[in-house]
Amino acid sequence: MKLSTLIKIINSIKNTTNKLLPYHFQDFLLRKLGKGTFLSQVEFHIVDHCNLNCAHCNHFTPLASENFCKIDDIISDFKKLKKIFDNIGKIFIVGGEPLLHPELIKILKPLRSIYLKSEIIIITNGILLDKQNEDFFKALKEHNIALSMTHYPIKVDYEGWIKKLDEMGIKAYYFSLDRNKMRKQNLDINGKSNKDKAFSMCHEKNCHFVRDGKLYICTPVPNICFLNKYFSVNFEVKKTDYIDLNKTKSASKINAIFKKPINFCKYCTDKEMEFDTYKISKREISEWVKS
Ligand code: SF4
Ligand code: SF4
Repeated sequence: MKLSTLIKIINSIKNTTNKLLPYHFQDFLLRKLGKGTFLSQVEFHIVDHCNLNCAHCNHFTPLASENFCKIDDIISDFKKLKKIFDNIGKIFIVGGEPLLHPELIKILKPLRSIYLKSEIIIITNGILLDKQNEDFFKALKEHNIALSMTHYPIKVDYEGWIKKLDEMGIKAYYFSLDRNKMRKQNLDINGKSNKDKAFSMCHEKNCHFVRDGKLYICTPVPNICFLNKYFSVNFEVKKTDYIDLNKTKSASKINAIFKKPINFCKYCTDKEMEFDTYKISKREISEWVKS
């Protein structure tokens, strides 16, 4: 088969559905064929705080002060990303609880204009859905933004919302079907975990995160500052634990860095995952750090 034919086939698969090939495989093929630069997914906080405050939250949100992130700062990060990555598979708007941000809809249009083909998804616990006005739902539809509801054991009619959003022509789905259990972080405050083992077992190494001009391999690293501040501890983030988007412009270099453990992995558990029944946080260090 000719190379040009193969490129055509891959592009047509990519254009018709992003679900047929895993993103990292698309990236691999496209990079091999010299057809653009690709990042599988990235997420960002639009607020740091949450209206639910679950124990074990892996964004350390119950420990964060109220903070509404600036739309201009986020857009500036995405302009930097665009100079490096032609395409991003999925962009997750997260927090904290994104619907707490009074100007959430202001980010949708500029974000969509930077990444036209990405799947852009707001992750919500759903509590504030019935407080949203018509403009919110109109903006989701207009800019092709999906809503993903994480199914917590709380009084939100998730099934009903899926139906309503579907009728409005808005993509909606569950992010996780079972939030009756929360995964324990079990961080090792002494940094004595086996980095390679922790990394190989890690479920968050593809949850890339962007903030303040920096791209992180995973969510715990940029958000550990909330835990450090709240409990006056020092899980250290080194310069080698993130990519400075003002300095590193090579997509292949970044993708190579993301394939290996970072220094911070020494704090993550290298043991099998443990779960706890769902509960609201009491803001105790044991919810995140192993004793
Ligand atoms: S709803 Fe999500 S962001 Fe909020 S505390 Fe729970 S796990 Fe964290
Ligand atoms: S620091 Fe390493 S082990 Fe911990 S969540 Fe990030 S990638 Fe995974």
